[in-house]
Amino acid sequence: MKYVSTRGGEAVSLDTALVQGIAPDGGLFLPKMFPNFSPEDFASCENIQDTARKLLAPFFVGSQLQASLPEIVAETFHFDIPVTWHGTESDQFGLLELFHGPTAAFKDVGAAFLAACISRLEGDEASPLTIIVATSGDTGGAVAAAFNERPGMRVVVLYPDGRVSERQAHQLTCWGDNVLSLAVQGSFDDCQALAKGAFADQNLSSRYRFSSANSINIGRLLPQSIYYAHSSLQHFASGRGRANFIVPTGNLGNGLACVMAREMGFPIGDVIFSTNANRTIADFLAKGEWQPRQSIATLASAMDVGNPSNMERMRKLFGEGEDLARLVSVVSVTDDQIREQIKINYDDLGTVTCPHTATATFAWRNFAKDVAPDGNWICVATAHAAKFEQVVEPVIGQSVDLPPELREILSRPQRFVQIEPDADQVANAMDQYFSS
Ligand SMILES: *Cc1c(COP(=O)(O)O)cnc(C)c1O
Repeated sequence: MKYVSTRGGEAVSLDTALVQGIAPDGGLFLPKMFPNFSPEDFASCENIQDTARKLLAPFFVGSQLQASLPEIVAETFHFDIPVTWHGTESDQFGLLELFHGPTAAFKDVGAAFLAACISRLEGDEASPLTIIVATSGDTGGAVAAAFNERPGMRVVVLYPDGRVSERQAHQLTCWGDNVLSLAVQGSFDDCQALAKGAFADQNLSSRYRFSSANSINIGRLLPQSIYYAHSSLQHFASGRGRANFIVPTGNLGNGLACVMAREMGFPIGDVIFSTNANRTIADFLAKGEWQPRQSIATLASAMDVGNPSNMERMRKLFGEGEDLARLVSVVSVTDDQIREQIKINYDDLGTVTCPHTATATFAWRNFAKDVAPDGNWICVATAHAAKFEQVVEPVIGQSVDLPPELREILSRPQRFVQIEPDADQVANAMDQYFSS
């Protein structure tokens, strides 16, 4: 399989697309074609790893990683991704629980897959590859967890000190070993500028081989189609027909993965994207004009994206205007509605959800029946509520129990270096940490 930039140009191998992350022309990599499956092809698949190996095989043809696919799959899907059912007897919705990974959010899937691939392609104990990640809270933890203790790999996490929650800070600083956590006395933008600066710094690059684990890497996108494929196959096999999905969406990675799975022939019916008050996607579908803007801060903070980069992939694959509007519906949810929905989920629907997941259950309650009145709807639960306890606990008036993954992380000692937003301080901290 070859991969091409959304902006054209020459086709490259999977390995090149994974290592480059973003195409040289600034575009995003997409597979040249998608395989076409039918549910019968997966009749002998008993678990998500079986499904993953079969689904991914065509994407790995011609890659150096082809023979390692079973190991890569085993390292990625090492935790449960169940669908649980909630609501009332006559009015049920499913939750696709993507929060049983090491940092209790769905980004663990993409990060683990990318780490399994990149470390095999580029990891080198004599000259380790250094992944630099600037994070506003969640991504950094998933990336650190995924690369932690991998031979030939190092990670530098830059996060804005005091601007992430206590639990997030813990997840960014509890790794040690090959992970250096830098608590920057500045904003997320400062962190991003420092990461970019480190890449561009010739002196530093002569001592470290740098790479990124960018959210737009094709290696983060491909594995996300698998949980849609697997859960829809199981739903279909149980005699309940096609599964309809509601996906909380920010940068559109998870939402695109769902539509891709449907495109490949998995038994998926209607798809709704739920967003927070960042309305770029909703307005695009309603008005047909693409108008990216500054993001605004909301309670579903991991979806605070004003210029969703994966829309470039979406438009390339599926077109614009009415074509896109036929493909998906979009529901934009305000902070007040998120709070109210978290309470309804707890009081009436028997489940405690994070603010992102609440946008999906809001869309289910208020819109899903207009889209598919008799359908079975599965809302995607992107994070565990305990990760966002500062939002959830005051609303439900209860504390949220920590899941085992988070309890484990929060019991670890923290280790980090405080720095000013200054390139020399990044370099010094790296030299000190990685020479010892
Ligand atoms: C990243 C994230 C999202 C949004 O996912 P995209 O792929 O950016 O659309 C939703 N919920 C949580 C908890 C996240 O961390």
